[in-house]
Amino acid sequence: MGNHRAGKRERSRGTVTPAVPRSTVGYTGGGKRRATKPGHAGKRSGGAPGLASVPTAVGAAALLLAAGGAVTLGGKDSSPIDFSQASARAAGSDISAALANRQQAVSRDSRRQALADAADAELQDAADAQMVERDARVQKLAMSAQSWSDELAKNLWTAPLKPGTYRLTARFGQFGLWASSHTGLDFAAPHGSPIYAIAAGEVTETGYAGAYGNRTIVTLEDGTELWFCHQSSVGVSVGERVVPGQQIGTVGNTGRSTGPHLHLEVRPGAGDPVDPFSALLVHGVTP
Ligand SMILES: [Zn+2]
Repeated sequence: MGNHRAGKRERSRGTVTPAVPRSTVGYTGGGKRRATKPGHAGKRSGGAPGLASVPTAVGAAALLLAAGGAVTLGGKDSSPIDFSQASARAAGSDISAALANRQQAVSRDSRRQALADAADAELQDAADAQMVERDARVQKLAMSAQSWSDELAKNLWTAPLKPGTYRLTARFGQFGLWASSHTGLDFAAPHGSPIYAIAAGEVTETGYAGAYGNRTIVTLEDGTELWFCHQSSVGVSVGERVVPGQQIGTVGNTGRSTGPHLHLEVRPGAGDPVDPFSALLVHGVTP
């Protein structure tokens, strides 16, 4: 840094001093031998450090002029000389500084590299751990998805009659034939049409049941009862497990009925009936 300041001072002084400044000569000790431009080097070679006199410098310059150098004396020229010297010194110090910086940089780089390597190793370890953890999570999710899918499949319902072979004749809640509002959904279909289990469950009751005629009750895993009524025939027995779509009987006109049809009831928890139409919709079946 000191050299840089000196160089600036030198330059500014050079612009106002017509002759080669003494201080400039003083600087030549270090810079002159490394100077590369012949013309400038000649001028600098004019004196020993701290002792050079103007005449000596001028004499040397004159010799160089004779040798074809482009050096001239004066304010205009001293400035470039000074600048050159300062530059050389500055360059020298810059080189030293640069070397030092380079050393530091190399050492910094090595340190940085070591840190980076360590960080990479840690990151790799962390990434590996994350991968393992992620794989486990994905595996878990897959299993849970499978179990959810199984659960859904288990809860999937199907229509109790073959689609297109029936028409809905009485809705839940309607008033008409019944002492109170209609407690189920009526599917009118030809006598003997197959009736299918709507959902997976267990047959918990079969037989004649008064107004319901021949009735089959299938109880689902969640306790919901599905009642199939007015059947002309019952094809399953109590304790039998059924799956959706499995035939459990045929459409009839038994009990209080004015024509062959399936009266379906849905009773959650074996309690009061709910609208079978909504229950079917909820389970993905549009009756
Ligand atoms: Zn009915």
